[in-house]
Amino acid sequence: MRNRNNEVIDQLVAKINTEIEKGIDCTQCGACCKGLMINVTEDEATHLSNHLDMSTREFKDKYIEVSNGGQLIINTIPCHFLSDNKCTVYENRFNECRDFPHIKKPNFSDRLFGTLIHYSICPIVFNVVEQLKIELNFFSENINA
Ligand code: SF4
Ligand code: SF4
Repeated sequence: MRNRNNEVIDQLVAKINTEIEKGIDCTQCGACCKGLMINVTEDEATHLSNHLDMSTREFKDKYIEVSNGGQLIINTIPCHFLSDNKCTVYENRFNECRDFPHIKKPNFSDRLFGTLIHYSICPIVFNVVEQLKIELNFFSENINA
């Protein structure tokens, strides 16, 4: 993949992703909310605490811990805000949640490691990667290598 044009790969990934997303209902899955550590910024903590009518201090005491690297993270896995497989703060969820599974970000080829970490968690990632392998003749190229 590294020998291919990044923009061409990104366009192909976007096309595949659009098709795959049509067939997957996140409300029937919730695997990311059940299995991933969620990073939170100070602004997001303040925003969501306002939405929940709590002080930021109360919000942090209840929902947040600080990682060894100083990053704010949600202090439980699964996430506190997941209920019945749905996000109870959907309109006010964190950017990391909005961006997941990060398939549509530019430079897919440069982000393969991160993508493959989520391959076994997220059905969207799994199916996009598998379809991409088919469209790029991944198997025949490697057999003939
Ligand atoms: S805030 Fe919502 S979308 Fe984000 S991990 Fe929690 S339940 Fe999932
Ligand atoms: S793991 Fe993937 S398919 Fe499942 S809810 Fe999260 S984004 Fe949707």
